[in-house]
Amino acid sequence: MTTMHTTTLPTTDDVRARVRDALRAVGSTAELAGPGEYGLPASTPITGEVLFTMAATTPEQADAAIAEAAQAFTTWRTTPAPVRGALVARLGELLVEHKADLATLVTIEAGKITSEALGEVQEMIDICQFAVGLSRQLYGKTIASERPGHRLMETWHPLGVVGVITAFNFPVAVWSWNTAIALVCGDTVVWKPSELTPLTALACQALIERAADDVGAPRGVSRVIQGDREVGELLVDDPRVALVSATGSVRMGQQVGPRVMARFGKVLLELGGNNAAIVTPSADLDLAVRAIVFSAAGTAGQRCTTLRRLIVHSSVADELVSRIVAAYRSLPIGDPSAEGTLVGPLIHETAYREMVGALEQARADGGEVFGGERHDLGDESAFYVAPAVVRMPAQTELVHTETFAPILYVMTYDDLDEAIALNNTVPQGLSSAIFTTDIREAERFMAADGSDCGIANVNIGTSGAEIGGAFGGEKHTGGGRESGSDAWKAYMRRATNTINYSSDLPLAQGVHFG
Ligand code: NAD
Repeated sequence: MTTMHTTTLPTTDDVRARVRDALRAVGSTAELAGPGEYGLPASTPITGEVLFTMAATTPEQADAAIAEAAQAFTTWRTTPAPVRGALVARLGELLVEHKADLATLVTIEAGKITSEALGEVQEMIDICQFAVGLSRQLYGKTIASERPGHRLMETWHPLGVVGVITAFNFPVAVWSWNTAIALVCGDTVVWKPSELTPLTALACQALIERAADDVGAPRGVSRVIQGDREVGELLVDDPRVALVSATGSVRMGQQVGPRVMARFGKVLLELGGNNAAIVTPSADLDLAVRAIVFSAAGTAGQRCTTLRRLIVHSSVADELVSRIVAAYRSLPIGDPSAEGTLVGPLIHETAYREMVGALEQARADGGEVFGGERHDLGDESAFYVAPAVVRMPAQTELVHTETFAPILYVMTYDDLDEAIALNNTVPQGLSSAIFTTDIREAERFMAADGSDCGIANVNIGTSGAEIGGAFGGEKHTGGGRESGSDAWKAYMRRATNTINYSSDLPLAQGVHFG
């Protein structure tokens, strides 16, 4: 299968200049050195080259950052929530002003096409607006007491320092989901971004510091520490960090979760997905093809919600697969910053090797592979691939694994129960979808014995969630919820208050004592 090349790649020097411009525009004064000078490289998947290097945060500096956040918490927790909201409102304004600058950096570091990078920054703006509204709605319940002259209620209080660990593929939005909500809840934040995306983190830090200065909040409300997993472990193990909100692979969650819980810290895990869509005989195939191609090939298959498994009724499988393959053939692959590109690069060579390995295994399992070949755009260190569609004879062990690349495995079914069982058999439980015009099938998919995922969509793809809903998944995806709805409750502690306004002392459950 051949897919169009649409662009030649920019030079690495050109990309460096764009980074400098964008960082200057957002007000970052961070020092960037040349390749080889410091231990933390900032690379771009566009050319696969190292752009700059930075010094990784030392344990002493991380300790100081956590101490600063802990100190800021002592005043921030009693700052009225709507006043805290003013900081997030200002951050939102700065994000509007610098949307294009930040999106440029997202494209350069994560390889997202411009439209998706702008969408990621828009998501930050959206969550800021949500959080500002929330700052006047942090409500508790009043509950009927069984005792006369008593009132029972719940109050919600700030937790403390929130440690935020993020993945490369949403380098800025996930920080903002956590930070905007944590800040209005009265918490302070220390962020450990992916070691693959340090530049976007510098830009976000510059913006939050500007916002803090503008509204008179202490800069300690939001700090950043940079480096690899060892720097992240400093947050994981630090008893001053009340909540660790960690986004990344299942492997990372398996390491982080038990360590935080061992010290009785709170943990919020947003881990890998292995998302499926069921296509029923009644589906609107035009709509389904568009949704499937965006969900499976968009972001070069590097979203946690990327569509990885297609479970198609056998009566429509041949037609659907041939339409998806035809659509894939017309996808422009290339420089993600160039107009018209729809599929950018994989993040690095390891991701490419994993894709190649998965496709080899798929063939060994009897799968029929369409696409998946590498596109040589003139830079050996960059990894551009055609998205792959693989018709599998069955859902093998391979299909149970998340390969973070654009591979769509297609299986067929004859009975909806069988399709739902296939949807649910994988260990991950993030996102899922059904394409149907039959209301019974749609409702069955969303029922208690339907999809077991945190997201169950009807007639839209598995990716591209709105911030208003709670985002997250079950099973190996970690069970955490972030973003909208009542996800804020994970960032606060609950106190139950019983108030006796009578002059008697009746005990609960009718107990008499003395
Ligand atoms: P990753 O697990 O390699 O790294 C994620 C982050 O965790 C990085 O900042 C890394 O330095 C840190 N880390 C890794 N091990 C750690 C440890 N033991 N202690 C502390 N920190 C540690 O993930 P990635 O390759 O950057 O991102 C891709 C993965 O993230 C995919 O599995 C994807 O599905 C998942 N993801 C999930 C969501 C979600 O909301 N569910 C969102 C985005 C990405």
